[in-house]
Amino acid sequence: MSDQSLTQPPAPERRRGLTYPLGRWSPEPGELHEIAAGVRWLRMPMPFSLDHINLWVLDGGDHHVIVDTAIPAPGCKDVWRRVLDGITREKPVGKVLCTHYHPDHIGNAGWLIKKTGATLVMAQTEYLMARMLLGDIRDEPPEEAVRFYEKAGWPDAQLRDFRAAGWGRFARAVSSFPVTYERIRDGQLYTIGDRTWRIVTGSGHTPEHACLVDDEGGLMIAGDQVLPRITSNVSVHVTEPMADPLGDWLASIDRFRSLSGDLHVLPAHGFPFHGLHARLDQLAEDHYQKLTALERFLARPRTALACFEVLFHRAIDVKEYGIATGEAIAHLRWLEQRGRAVRETHEGRADIWRSI
Ligand SMILES: [Zn+2]
Repeated sequence: MSDQSLTQPPAPERRRGLTYPLGRWSPEPGELHEIAAGVRWLRMPMPFSLDHINLWVLDGGDHHVIVDTAIPAPGCKDVWRRVLDGITREKPVGKVLCTHYHPDHIGNAGWLIKKTGATLVMAQTEYLMARMLLGDIRDEPPEEAVRFYEKAGWPDAQLRDFRAAGWGRFARAVSSFPVTYERIRDGQLYTIGDRTWRIVTGSGHTPEHACLVDDEGGLMIAGDQVLPRITSNVSVHVTEPMADPLGDWLASIDRFRSLSGDLHVLPAHGFPFHGLHARLDQLAEDHYQKLTALERFLARPRTALACFEVLFHRAIDVKEYGIATGEAIAHLRWLEQRGRAVRETHEGRADIWRSI
């Protein structure tokens, strides 16, 4: 397999304060494009609304390092088989680094590692989250999970469907997962071939999401921590119902402002871009606007479910209730933690939130 090269480079595009050096161009599925020396871009098509995920193959000198892996759908595995066939003729795959534990990032990690003998590299909390969720499969959701959604204001019909759907969807979206790994942590310098990457972790989307920043080379592999167009999901989950992930997320945005604004950002979804600081500002602003609208909306007491209309400005399908509930509670909790909203709890009924 040969690298896809650009005979005529696409023109850069500027949209909403960001510059996309290659415009909306992306490599054909299964083709690798060298976007910077020793960094090749694989745009993996995915079945569902995310459409695709950007994966990276890094030149590690005497081995390759794969960053993120997509879900184990047959189409994704077919692309990987073709890619592996090409790159393993050059040298072996030595490491599979996953930015965070979500299935579109770790889904094929175990499968790739079995095929190549590579080592898994992850931040510790991300690795443990994956192992914890993979081991938790039950016929019925635990009562705490049902209660979580009941407190959010779900109607009985949705609670019934939720019970009937079983528990352990995460495990079905991930191939076998390695029982050993190599830990990376915030601030660590991690050399891969000719580049030295600094690990910079963010929190809120997941607890210890790893980004790779090459300060000297002006490059950042951002995973889901900084996406150019869509906003990353920031949710309260059943595991930690009193968490404040939006507080973590906004604090991470502040921390990421200390990175150079000139970095070429390689995100997991969307197109590579310049304009890190502009994008961080937009992401923060989007949440602050939602929080202001929500606080006003809570002048009348509401359930979390009732807040969907002010947060999402569109009808939420029942299939999206889980993810929308997590996001709604993340915003409500942020207000609660800062003394701007209170929550009344009632046994066997929904929590009622109001602003103060
Ligand atoms: Zn994610």
